[in-house]
Amino acid sequence: MAGFDVSPRVAAAIKAFTVPERLGFGAVWAPVMFSAHCREGRWGRGELLPYGPIEILPGARVLQYGELVFEGMKAYCVGREWPNLFRARDNWQRFARSAERLSMTPVPEDLFFEALDAVAGACRPFIPNATGRSLYLRPFLYGAETGYMLRNSTEFRFMVIANPVESYASGPMRVAVERSDVRAAVGGVGTAKASANYAASLRASSAAAARGYTVALWLDAREQRYIQELSGMNLFAVIGGELHTPELDGAILAGITRDSLIQLARHLGLKVHERRIAIDELLAQVSSGACEEVFACGTAAIVSPISVLADRDGREYTPKTIDGVAARLREALLAIQERRAADPFGWTRDVAPFTATI
Ligand SMILES: *Cc1c(COP(=O)(O)O)cnc(C)c1O
Repeated sequence: MAGFDVSPRVAAAIKAFTVPERLGFGAVWAPVMFSAHCREGRWGRGELLPYGPIEILPGARVLQYGELVFEGMKAYCVGREWPNLFRARDNWQRFARSAERLSMTPVPEDLFFEALDAVAGACRPFIPNATGRSLYLRPFLYGAETGYMLRNSTEFRFMVIANPVESYASGPMRVAVERSDVRAAVGGVGTAKASANYAASLRASSAAAARGYTVALWLDAREQRYIQELSGMNLFAVIGGELHTPELDGAILAGITRDSLIQLARHLGLKVHERRIAIDELLAQVSSGACEEVFACGTAAIVSPISVLADRDGREYTPKTIDGVAARLREALLAIQERRAADPFGWTRDVAPFTATI
């Protein structure tokens, strides 16, 4: 007997769902979602529901004050009967840390996994069996209590929605260095996976897109000199055959892909440096060829090559190698994620079998 309820409408929703040929990233919504409420610190029983609109009062604090944290993770089912997750406990821990930063009640580990297992288990027939494809899982937690009081909510809703996806980025990314807006400052919420960080980044992202770039590259808030990250991905540079990535400065989001690449690269015999990287130094090194390659990483795109770094003055800097070390690391990481290779780090875990009757 599952520890959650299954709506009688779930079976019909699953039956009616067909997976389109083209998935994109976040264009196709899985037909089920998980929901649980927390009131006065107590979590109620979870529910598996058909994907659809939810009720929310206009005065809810998530709408008025942006009380919302989320996670992004994937379930893979490549050449196997049953899906597996990747470093899911690290996602849960980060989810809890994000919640604490926003003074929200964290989701307990067992509820988090119950929800993931329920959604991934129910979606099992739709998880693409093709390398690079997966079921993207999006857990989120929001403040559901109404009111303008300047204190934390006492009512929260935890949900998990999902999307069958292709890998996020198609082709190398063109990156625009953002020299005016700031994504996150030390002491702020940059280290939390809070939707507020995305809100802060959208103006620069749109401006970058309007100039023909894929994404904005953020600098530190104090001096606007040191590289932080892209809006939703961490950054690596290859300099003299060694990896360099900005050290976690108290404003950068600690990506699980970033950490996985650091461990994996060292395992493969590559040197990795976590340090402050000045943007002007990196651009000069790309210019001179001392920096041969730049790439980004995150759950959605895994490892994505960067073909151009553009400064505010319009100058473009093109690394001489595009997708060299990046391709090697992407393939090595993806093979572990998809369980096509041995997992010496113990990073993967099976989705728990779905026991409820739908
Ligand atoms: C989610 C996210 C990342 C990547 O984190 P992963 O755990 O690797 O998916 C990087 N930067 C920001 C701002 C993010 O929100």
